[in-house]
Amino acid sequence: MKADQLIKVQRHKLITILGRGSVEVFESILDHLLAWDLLSWEEYEHVKSPAVLSCSSRNLLDIITFKGSRACELFILALQNVIHSLQLTDLILGSYKPPEKTPESSASLSLLPSQTLQNHRLNIVRKLHGHIAAVLDILHRYGHFSKYECDEVQLPIYTPSQQARKLLDLAKAKGEDTAQVLLDYIASEPGPIKPILDNACLKYQEKLSSTLAAQSRILTNYAGTENMCLEDIYVDCILEVSSIAAAENGCLSFLIGLEDIFGPDGILNKDADTVLITGEAGSGKSTSLQRIQQLWATKQVFQDFTFVFAFSCRRFNFIDKPISLQMLLFEHCCWPDDHQDEVFQYILDHPEEIMFLIDGFDEFKFQFTDEERHCSPSKPTTALNLIFNLLQGNLMKNTKKVMTSRPNAVTAKLRKYLQKEITLKGFSPEGIEKFIKKCHSDSLSAEHILCFVEANSALHGLCHVPFFCWIVSKCHEQLMQNGSDFTHTMTDVYLLILEHFLLHLTHNCQRTNEILLSHIATILHLGKLALDGLDSCCYIFSAVQLQEAGVSEEDISLGFLVRSHSFSHARNAVSNRNYEFLHISVQCFFAALYITLNDDVAQSTLHSLFRHRQENPSVRMMPAACCKGWPFYCHQSHEEDKRRSETLLQEAEMSNIQITASFVSGLLSGRHRDQMGKRFKKYRLVKKYLAKCIQKHFLSISPAVGGEKKSLHALPEFVWWIKCIYEMQDNDLAKEAVSKLEVDHLKLTYCGIGPLECTALAYALKHLKSPVGLQLDYNSVGDLGIEQLLPCLDVCHSIYLRGNDISDQGVAKLVDRALDSCNLQKIALFHNNLTDACAQNFANLLKHRDNFLALRLGNNHLTAVGAEVLAEGLKQNNSIQYLGFWGNKIGGAGACALAVALENNTSLLWLSLVGNNIDGHGAKALALMLKKNTVLEELCLQENCLVDEDILHLAEGLQNNSSLKVLKLSNNRISRRGMEFFVNALKYNITIMSI
Ligand code: ADP
Repeated sequence: MKADQLIKVQRHKLITILGRGSVEVFESILDHLLAWDLLSWEEYEHVKSPAVLSCSSRNLLDIITFKGSRACELFILALQNVIHSLQLTDLILGSYKPPEKTPESSASLSLLPSQTLQNHRLNIVRKLHGHIAAVLDILHRYGHFSKYECDEVQLPIYTPSQQARKLLDLAKAKGEDTAQVLLDYIASEPGPIKPILDNACLKYQEKLSSTLAAQSRILTNYAGTENMCLEDIYVDCILEVSSIAAAENGCLSFLIGLEDIFGPDGILNKDADTVLITGEAGSGKSTSLQRIQQLWATKQVFQDFTFVFAFSCRRFNFIDKPISLQMLLFEHCCWPDDHQDEVFQYILDHPEEIMFLIDGFDEFKFQFTDEERHCSPSKPTTALNLIFNLLQGNLMKNTKKVMTSRPNAVTAKLRKYLQKEITLKGFSPEGIEKFIKKCHSDSLSAEHILCFVEANSALHGLCHVPFFCWIVSKCHEQLMQNGSDFTHTMTDVYLLILEHFLLHLTHNCQRTNEILLSHIATILHLGKLALDGLDSCCYIFSAVQLQEAGVSEEDISLGFLVRSHSFSHARNAVSNRNYEFLHISVQCFFAALYITLNDDVAQSTLHSLFRHRQENPSVRMMPAACCKGWPFYCHQSHEEDKRRSETLLQEAEMSNIQITASFVSGLLSGRHRDQMGKRFKKYRLVKKYLAKCIQKHFLSISPAVGGEKKSLHALPEFVWWIKCIYEMQDNDLAKEAVSKLEVDHLKLTYCGIGPLECTALAYALKHLKSPVGLQLDYNSVGDLGIEQLLPCLDVCHSIYLRGNDISDQGVAKLVDRALDSCNLQKIALFHNNLTDACAQNFANLLKHRDNFLALRLGNNHLTAVGAEVLAEGLKQNNSIQYLGFWGNKIGGAGACALAVALENNTSLLWLSLVGNNIDGHGAKALALMLKKNTVLEELCLQENCLVDEDILHLAEGLQNNSSLKVLKLSNNRISRRGMEFFVNALKYNITIMSI
C-alpha cells in the first residue's frame, strides 16, 4: 500500500494515536515537517499548540493528504521517528513499504538565518535544552526580546522542548537579525547539548557514575597487596593512531591523548563505532580504560555521554546462561533502582549518548565471528554473541565502544568493524621518570632510583612497560643490592617481585637462592593453577579450582592472587570469593615456574610451548555448539585430565604461550640455575628447540633472484624466539642461532618492536657474521629502543627506522655510536620527531665518516636553521650519495645552504627537497649549484613554491650541467611559460632524461 492510501485508510486510527499522545509528540512531529519544508509557516501556525489534540491532528492530516504522496511518505517517516508505540508499528508494518529516499536538507550556503533555524529545528530544539535562560538573556540584552516575551517563553507550564520551540517561533517572527543572534549562540556553544534527563534517568546516572567512580579509584590489580589510587599514580602512556591506518589516509602515524580517542584522527571506517586500543601485556590497556571510566564518572571528561558501561571480557567467560542486553547492562554493570523500563528505553533511544568500555578482548576463549546475527535488545543470547553484535553495530548502533586487546587477537574479520585502531606503547622516558616520582614521595629516593634505572640501559628499556616499571619501582631496594649488572631480562624482573613478596611473607632475610626453594610448594600450587588456567583460557578461579590446585590460604596471602572484583552487586555469577592473578603476565610466570620446577611436566608440554604457529591447531575458533554451551571451564574426568596433561597448552592463547615460553627460557638460564635447581635436561631441550626454530625460519628464506640482495622478511615469531634467546642469556645459543643467517637485509617492519625487543635483537644480532641492513620501520623503537640497539650497530650496514617516535635525544645516541661503527653507511629516519637540534649530530657524522652513503630525514621538523648546520657537515663530506629532506620546512634559506655546500661535492647522486616551501631564493641557489656540480643525477623539488621565473634560473643551471638525469617539479606553480624555458635549455643539455 502507498503512503497516501495508508493515511486515507487508517485516518481514524492515526487520529486516535495522535490524539491520545502528548503535545510533545505532536510538536515533535511538526518539527520534522517544518525541517523538511513540508509545512509552510502559515500551515504550522494553523495546527500548532492545539487545544484539542485530535482536532489539530485532523487538520494536519488534511494538509498532508492534500500535498500528495511524497508528503504522505515523509509524514509517516516523521511518525516512525517520533512514536515508538506498538500500535503505530502494527499499523504501518505489513501493509506499507517505506520509500528508499530520505529527506534532504537544503544547501546551507544560500539560506537566510531563519531558514537555517527551521531546517535544523530538530537539533536546535534539543541543543537549546538547559540554555533557554542564557539565550533569552542575550536576546533581551540586545533588544530583540522584551522582558515580557522572555517570561512568556519560560512559563513553567512548558516543557524544555516547548520552551525551545516558543523561542524559535518568536525569533522567526522578529526577523533575520534575531535569528542570526540565535544561530551565533548555537554555533559558539561547545559540543552538543543533551536533553534534560528525567528523574529516573538522572538517578540512574548518579548511581552508575558513583559505582564507576568507586571502581576506578583504586588500581584494581593490587587490591590485594596495597591501595594505590589511580589518580595518584596515573601517568599518560604513548598512544599512537595506527600507522597503517594513517598511512592509507595519506598521513603517517601520530600521537594522541586519551581524551582525544574519539577525535577525527586515524578513522579507518566511518560507519563503525568501535575504537580499539591494542598493546602488549602490561602496556597499560586496562589502566587506560579505568582512567576513561574515572574521567567520566568524576565529570572531568567525556561528558557528552549520559551513561558509560564498563565490562571485562575475562568476566564474560563466566556468564553461563543466555542474557539480553538489558540484563547485561543492569545485572552485570549497574542496577536502576526504579523505572527500569524507562531507563532502558532512554538508553535504546539515545545510543549516541552511551559508551561501552570492553576490556581484554583477547581473553575471550573464542575468536571474533560475525556469523550469528542478533539485533534484539530484549532477546537473550550468549554474552559472547551479545558483545560480537554490539561491535558490529547490529545491536545499539551508534553507541561508542572502546575496546582493548593484545594484538594477536585482532583478526581481519574484527578489523572490518573497527572505526579506528590505537596502539598503546607504554611509557616514554619522561613517563618512566614521572611514574617513579609518583611512586616515591621522597624526592631524593626517587632521584636515586631513577639514576640507577637510567644507568642500566636494559633495565631502562624494560621500564617502558608500565607493569615492569611498577615492579622495578617496588623492588628498588633488592635491585640496588643486586647491583646494576644483574637485572637485564623480563624473567629477572619477575623473579625480583617473587622474592620481594616471599621476603614480605616470611619477614626474614634468607638468601634469595634459598628463599625460592624453601617455598617450592607454594610456587607449585600457584603454578599449577596458572598453567591449568592458561590451558583452558581461564583467568578467574573459583574456590573449587583453588582447592584442586592445592592452593591454601597461606599461598593466597603471598599476594599474587587477588580477589576478583565482582562487576555488579550480587546479581552476577562471579562472586567475590573468586581470585585472579594480579596480572596476566604473572599467571604466565607462575605457569613457567611450574613447567620449569615440576619434573613431571611432559616433554610434549615444552614442545607445545615452542611450537611454530603454523603447527598450532586452529584454536579459539568458535564452534557453533560452543556459543550455546557454557561455561568454558568445565571439569573433566580423570581420564580426560590425564590426556590433557599430555597435550597441555595446545589450546592456550598464543600471546600467553609466548610469554610463558620466554619465562621458561629465562628460568632455565644458567644465571638462575642455583635458584631453580639444576634442570639440565630441560635446558638442553629448550635450547635445541630455539636453535631449531630459528634455523628452520632461515631455511625458509627464498634464494636471492638474479642481481638482488638476499632479504629476510621475518615472521612475527622470529622476534619472539629472539626474545627467548635473550631471556636465556646464553651467548653460545645466540651465536649458534644467527651465525648461519646469510642475508643482506633483515626486514622487521610492523612487528610491534619496542625497547624490550630491541634489547633482545641487539643481543642476538651482534653475533652476525656479516653486516645486514636492519629494517625496523613502523615499530615502537623510540629513544629507549635506540639505546638498546647500539650494541648491534656495528653489524648493520644500514638501519631503517621510519615511523618509530625517535627524537633528537635518540639520534644523539645513534650518531654517537655511528661515528665509530664504520660498517654503518645508511640511516633512514623518515617520519620521526626530529628537529633542528639533531642537525649538529648529522653534521659531525658527515664530517667524520668518509664512507657514509645515505641519510634520509624526510617528514620531520627541520627548518632552515637545521639545514644550515647540516650543510656545514656536507661541505666536508665526499662520500654521501643520497640525501632526503622530503616534507620538512627548510625553505629557501635552507635550500640555499645545501646548494652552496653541494657546489663542489663529488659524491651526492640524489637529493630530495620535496615539500619544503622552497621559493625563488632557493631555486636560484640550486640553479647555481647545478652549473658547478658534476655528479648529482636526480633532484626532487616537487610540492614547493616555484614559479615560472624560478624555472628560468633552473633551466640556465641545466644548460650548464652535464650530470643531472632526472628533475622532478610537479605540484609547483609552473605554467606553460616556465616549461618553455626548459625547451630552450634542453637544446644544450645532453644528460637529462626526465623532467
Ligand atoms: P595491560 O592491561 O596492558 O596488561 P595494565 O593496564 O593492567 O596493563 O597495567 C599493568 C600495571 O601497570 C597497572 O596495574 C599499573 O601498575 C601499571 N600501569 C599501567 N598503565 C599505567 C599508567 N598509565 N600509569 C601508571 N601506572 C600504569
